[in-house]
Amino acid sequence: MAYTVSANASNCMDACSLRSRQSSPRPMLTVVRLSDHFGQYVLTLKCECGHTRTAQPQTLAALAGFDALLADVVKRLRCSQCGRRRCSATVRPENKRDG
Ligand SMILES: [Zn+2]
Repeated sequence: MAYTVSANASNCMDACSLRSRQSSPRPMLTVVRLSDHFGQYVLTLKCECGHTRTAQPQTLAALAGFDALLADVVKRLRCSQCGRRRCSATVRPENKRDG
């Protein structure tokens, strides 16, 4: 089991420009259920009115359960500023600190 991996990356300049739609510049997590990634992520909830807040999956799971679909939970969230249910969620990896 001794594969050489370095050969794979060398032609990236050509290959990547052809397939640039597939690869996103920054790593984005895809979360379907709250339990995805073991809850090790942070949600940024943005409302139509521009109000943003961050939420932890644990907080949402307390309301809907870790088995709930993120999209469903987000739909039910009400903006604390305008009262509408028009939030969209962005997922980012949890920032880990030492200790
Ligand atoms: Zn709002």
